[in-house]
Amino acid sequence: MVFLGTSSATPTKGRNLPSVAIRREGEVVLMDCGEGTQKSFVEYGLGINREMVVLITHLHGDHVNGLLGLLQTMSMSGRGKKLTLVGPGGLYQWVKASMEMLSIGLSFDLTFVAAKPGVILSRGAYRVRCSRANHSVEAWSYVFEETPRPGVFDKSKAVALGVPEGRKWSTLQHGRSVTVGGRKIRPAEVLGPKRPGRSVGYSGDTRPSASLARFFRGVDLLIFDSTFAAGDKDKAVERKHSTCVEAAEVAKKAGARRLALTHFSARYRNVAPLVKEAREVFPESFAASDGMSVDVPGRTQ
Ligand SMILES: [Zn+2]
Ligand SMILES: [Zn+2]
Repeated sequence: MVFLGTSSATPTKGRNLPSVAIRREGEVVLMDCGEGTQKSFVEYGLGINREMVVLITHLHGDHVNGLLGLLQTMSMSGRGKKLTLVGPGGLYQWVKASMEMLSIGLSFDLTFVAAKPGVILSRGAYRVRCSRANHSVEAWSYVFEETPRPGVFDKSKAVALGVPEGRKWSTLQHGRSVTVGGRKIRPAEVLGPKRPGRSVGYSGDTRPSASLARFFRGVDLLIFDSTFAAGDKDKAVERKHSTCVEAAEVAKKAGARRLALTHFSARYRNVAPLVKEAREVFPESFAASDGMSVDVPGRTQ
C-alpha cells in the first residue's frame, strides 16, 4: 500500500487530498483520487502504463477532483492499457461531460463499472467487493481480496524428485503438474498448503456501522475514515464522518489485523493523540501519512 493523500476536505502543508494505492505484481489499484494525486502518483513511482483499476468512493471534490488530471497525464504519456473505473453512477457522466467540454481524448480505453453491493470486479488473482457506506451523498466502501495463493514451493523436494530447475519449477509453482522421466509430478508433492489471499478494506467517508464491520470481516488491513478526535464526535455525526475511536471500534468488531487511520481534519496539526485514543480500543492502529508505504503480509494459514 502507498498512501498518496491522507487529509480531508482541504490539503495541508504535509497532507494531500485522499488517495491510496495497492501495488501488487505490477498492477495498481487506486482508491480515490483527490486533487494533486497525479503528482504523488509519479513521485512514488506507481507507473503510467500498468494494469490499473480506480475505485472511487463518492462524488465529493476532495475524493475525485484529481481524476481528470491523472487520466490526461496518462494519455499524454502514451498509456495504451485499458483502465477500469468503478464508482457511483454519476461518476461516468461527470468524467465524460468534462472530457467533452475540455476536448480531452484518451490514448486508452476507459471502462466504467457502477458500484453496487456485492462482488463488483472479479479477476483471476483477486476480486473487489462493494458495500454502501453512510455519508451525506451516495458513498461506497470497498474490499480488495486476493484469491487463495499457491503454497510455498519446497526446492529440496523438487530436487529430490529430480525436477530440473527452470520452467518445470515455475509450472509447479503455478499449480500445474509436470512430467519428469515419464513420471507425473503433482504440485501437491512440492508445494505447502494453499495460503489465504491478502485483503484490504477501504471505508471512504462514512459513519461507522455494524454492517460495515461485517463487510470488513477479517481484513488484513482496514483503512478507515478518522476525520475527528473522540472529543469532536458531534462534528463527526453532523458531517457524516467517523472519529478515530469509532474507526477502532469497527476494526475490533471486524477482527481486522491492522487499522490505518486516515482522512484527518486539517484542525489536527498533530494526529498522535488520535492514534493514542484509537489504540486504547484497537492496539494495532496507526496513522497513515503521505508517502507512507505499508506492506500487507500474507497469513501462513
Ligand atoms: Zn472526504
Ligand atoms: Zn465526503
